[in-house]
Formats: sequence, C-alpha cells, structure tokens
Amino acid sequence: MAKYVFITGGVVSSLGKGIAAASLGRVLKNRGFKILIQKLDPYLNADPGTMSPFQHGEVYVTDDGAETDLDLGHYERFIDESLSKINNVTSGMIYHNVLSKERRGDYLGGTVQVIPHITNEIKDHIRKVSEVNDVDVILIEVGGTVGDIESLPFLEAIRQFRKELGRHNSVHIHATLVPYLNSSGEFKTKPTQHSVKELRSLGIQPDIICLRTEHPLEQDVKDKVSLFCDVEKRAVIELMNVKSIYEVPLNVAKEGLDDIVIEYLQLTEAKERDLKDWEEMVKKLYGAKNKIKIALVGKYVGLNDSYLSVVESLYHAGLYNDHKIEIVWIDSEKLEDLNEAEIVEKLKEVQGIVVPGGFGIRGVEGKITTVKYARENNIPYLGLCLGMQMAVIEFARNVLGYKDANSKEFDLKTEYPVIDLMPDQKYITNKGGTMRLGAYPCKIKEGTLLFDCYGVAEISERHRHRYEFNNEYRVAFEDNGFIFSGTSPDNKLVEVIEYPNHPFFIASQYHPEFKSRPNNPHPMFREFIKAASKIK
Ligand code: GLN
Repeated sequence: MAKYVFITGGVVSSLGKGIAAASLGRVLKNRGFKILIQKLDPYLNADPGTMSPFQHGEVYVTDDGAETDLDLGHYERFIDESLSKINNVTSGMIYHNVLSKERRGDYLGGTVQVIPHITNEIKDHIRKVSEVNDVDVILIEVGGTVGDIESLPFLEAIRQFRKELGRHNSVHIHATLVPYLNSSGEFKTKPTQHSVKELRSLGIQPDIICLRTEHPLEQDVKDKVSLFCDVEKRAVIELMNVKSIYEVPLNVAKEGLDDIVIEYLQLTEAKERDLKDWEEMVKKLYGAKNKIKIALVGKYVGLNDSYLSVVESLYHAGLYNDHKIEIVWIDSEKLEDLNEAEIVEKLKEVQGIVVPGGFGIRGVEGKITTVKYARENNIPYLGLCLGMQMAVIEFARNVLGYKDANSKEFDLKTEYPVIDLMPDQKYITNKGGTMRLGAYPCKIKEGTLLFDCYGVAEISERHRHRYEFNNEYRVAFEDNGFIFSGTSPDNKLVEVIEYPNHPFFIASQYHPEFKSRPNNPHPMFREFIKAASKIK
C-alpha cells in the first residue's frame, strides 16, 4: 500500500511549496523509494491550458498530453519520473466530473453537496495515482494558501482520507514563512501560529512544519513554533532561501526532513542517503566561470515563469557545458517598434538566440526579425514550436522571396501559407485540451545536426500546437538548402527543420524543454549551448 505525504502552505503564496515537495521527493527516491507527486489546484479551470502565461506561468505538458501546472515540471525535473494527467487535479475538473455524474443520473434522488460528493471525487482522484502505478510514497501538494475559500474542499478531503488511511500511513507537512523584521532584528512566528490554528480549525494537525526564511533561524525560533504548533522540535524544518532551486534537496537532507518522514511513515528498508552526485552538480552549477549570454525572445517576458522549462533547460545545458547562462530577456512586441539596425544593436551582445513557443499575432514580426538576424549573422538559433514556425516564415520571405509568407494563424489571406492549420484541427471549436498534445514519435534523418544531437534514429517528444509546416512547400525549401531532419514516422508531418550553412540553426515543432533534467540536459539544448559557447 502506498503511503502519503500531504503538503499545504500558509501565510503567503509563492513559498516554494512545489520545489519543497519535489526536493523531498528527490531525497526519498534516493533513499530507495518509488515516488510520485500529485498537485491539487483549487482554481475552477479544468486545467491551466486556457490560462494566459501572464496569469499562471508556463503550461507544462505531460507525455500523455495533459496540460498541467508548472509545478509538474519541477516534479519531473527533480524526481525524474514521467508524470501523467492524474498527477494534476483542479477544482474545475472535480466539479465537472460531479456535475456530469449528476446529469447522468448517478446520484438519482440525492442532493449533490460539497461533502460528500465533491470530497469523494477528490479522494477518488488521489487514490487513482496508486491504482495505476506501483508506488511507495505519494506526495500530494495542495495549491493555494490555507485560509483560502477555494482550497477548503481539498483540505476536508485530505482530513477524511488521512482517517481512512490510518496511523503511520500519512504525514502532513505545513510550509509557512517566517519573516525577519530588520527594524527589531527579530524573526516572527505569529503568522505561522495563526496559519496552523486555521489548519487545526479544519481538523488537520500538521506533523511537520517547514519554515521558509531569508536568514538562518535561531533554535529558539524553531522551539517556539514547536511549542505553539504542537509538533516535535526536530520536525520544525528550516527552508532557507537559496540561489538555485537545485540546492533545496541538499537543504532538505541537511535538515533531516527525509529521516522524519521515513520514521513517521514507518517506512522500513530505507537506504542510506547518498546525494554525492547531486552535491557535485550543485557545486558545478555555482562554480562555472565562463558566462554566456542567450537571448530569449518572447511575448511573455514580463513573467519569467512563462518560459520556466525553457529557462531551466538552458541552465541544465549550461551546467553540462560548464558555462553560466545569462538570459537576456527580449520582449518581441517591443522589437516591432525598432528598425533593423536597432534590433541588431540589441542582439549584438548575445551568443545564442531562443524563440520559444507562443500563440497569437502580437510580437510575431519581432521574432521573425530576430530569426533573420541569427541566420544571417551565424548566431546559434534554437526555435521551439512557434520558434520553428518563425524560422520557416523567415526563410520563406527572405530566402525564397515569398513576400507575405505567413502562418494561417496570423494571416488567413496570405498568398504563401507556409504554416497551416493541421487538418484534424479544422473543425475543432472548443479551446481547452484540443490541440495536438503530448508525446509523438519522430524519425530522424541520418547525417543531420539533429542526428548529431540525439545519436539515434527515432525519438519521442511532447507537443502542444494546432499549426504545422505546409507540405506543399517542402520541395521549394529543400531546393534552397533547408533540411527537414525530423518528421513523423510516416513522413507526413515536419517535426524538425535545420539550416546547414550555419554554426547551429535548428528548430522543432515539439517542445524539447519538457524533457530536460538538471543532471541530464536535453540533447538539443546541450548542443545549442555548446555551439553558443564557441561564439565570441
Ligand atoms: N501557435 C502555434 C500553433 O498553435 C505554436 C504553438 C506553440 O508554440 N506551442 O501551432
């Protein structure tokens, strides 16, 4: 039977609960347990797929095509397991299921209520993780902050579920913030006390409290939290601010959080902890002396989380190539007010350019100008999804001379629709969950840059798009030196393009960034950074 770790947050949002969960997962995996993590999100969208990246950050896509919260990206990167749609549950999803059952007549005669119908549905979703996986410990992170109206049904479901599980089969970790008041030189535990009081009023007594702090905590602060919140002294864990999220598993281990969880859950046969590889990795991360500047050209640069997996993938590749990555954020919309000389001035300092995924026409022309700059000036270029479509349009306009070449997403009347809607997207009207989503195989042509990256002839990568390269133009592109190095196995769908007369110019319709790991960088990012490191 699987055991459970529930993680809630108090005092403020953005505490790094997701990173804490992922880090604990990493250390527990290192102790020999099979780990999975599930996120319960209190909002009413069925999934974050329809939300603006400005509101919610990146949408992370799983192998099975779920559009999920970006915390799932952290989970995958830390515990190195492929997660699926059951690993992200939202209130919207729960209510949708309950209402569908009600319409079907499943509750005939009954009044449908939050307790027990919504809470039962939540518990069913929690159970599903262990029903379809062989797993020792499931970590469940509840999004939001204790005290929010939205998260109440989740907390009630957890309260009930813990009772059903019985003692020693679950622990509850509550993560809070301990502010430090500069004026009086004091740490303040009152917000934590209040948050625990709130949690208790819902019938949940936490077993462990993690305190996020800017400065190392004095023992008396921890003792006070222990006394007021009724948890063991050693179960008050300090989570110090760190320079890199990849340091958190080391702090979790240093504080012995894994030991306490293992003890409370009575997990027998835990292996000795051995985080040497991870320690080495963090050391290397901080040790890199050479800097490299990479431009990230996008529409949502105002919120760094919008491109979270892309940024992490760049860091992973930097780590591998022993270079510190400095990201130069470039707002593609702002580029549109500049002339070409001004754009060149902006990009002059960078050694590589990434155009990531995106939707809608805003900023598109700025991205196309950036691709032109990269192609003509031999600056390594990595295009991701929309970044691939931009490279196609740029080549069509500036090399093939197709003057108004465009994607049908941006110009329905273009004479040269080099990017067109996928045929199976033509009659889709609903927005949520209807793109081409998830992992698909891709065949790689030998002797290409892509083949050099992966070293194998078939791969699987994750997708999230509605448009594709228009095959009517394949010959024209190929005749002018463009290479279609990756396609679907039936050769019908272009997956990767590259341009050979260049140090590194590659772009994929898929999103490689979802599969990069800190200790195992994605091959396309790895080679991109290697090429960029050679640019002076
Ligand atoms: N908007 C483009 C499409 O739907 C690209 C999508 C993306 O970059 N994820 O095909």
